[in-house]
Amino acid sequence: MWCNNYELKTCLTGRLDYNKDLIEDITSFCENENITSGYICVLGALKSATLGFYNQSKKLYDAKIIDKTLEIVNCYGNISIKEGKPFVHIHLVVSDSDYICYGGHAMPGCIVFAGEIFIFETKGPPLIRQFDEITSLYMWPK
Ligand code: ZN
Repeated sequence: MWCNNYELKTCLTGRLDYNKDLIEDITSFCENENITSGYICVLGALKSATLGFYNQSKKLYDAKIIDKTLEIVNCYGNISIKEGKPFVHIHLVVSDSDYICYGGHAMPGCIVFAGEIFIFETKGPPLIRQFDEITSLYMWPK
């Protein structure tokens, strides 16, 4: 393991907009506010979700669309820079009306019904993702 020391700069709270894409909404906020590193937590509900599972042998995300209303049980993510722009990496656990949970890597297609967000912005140099040959993922630098 390898770590960098980033201090907390500020904690922002907000509401996500109805009917917006979860990732798109948070990413555009980070672009407008020039947030280049940090982490987020969200509580709320989605109208539908698209979750990814990274297929380690194919090195591609498989996607599953969950086309029903969902509670956000847990939504945690980080903010860094990928290809020159803020990149929001989110993992989600959502539950349906039968309390069945689904979890995975949030992909475009998570449509917000309601959401309350904490954004914890960190100080320091931008956290820039780099392509990693082993995983074929854009990872934080060592
Ligand atoms: Zn992920």
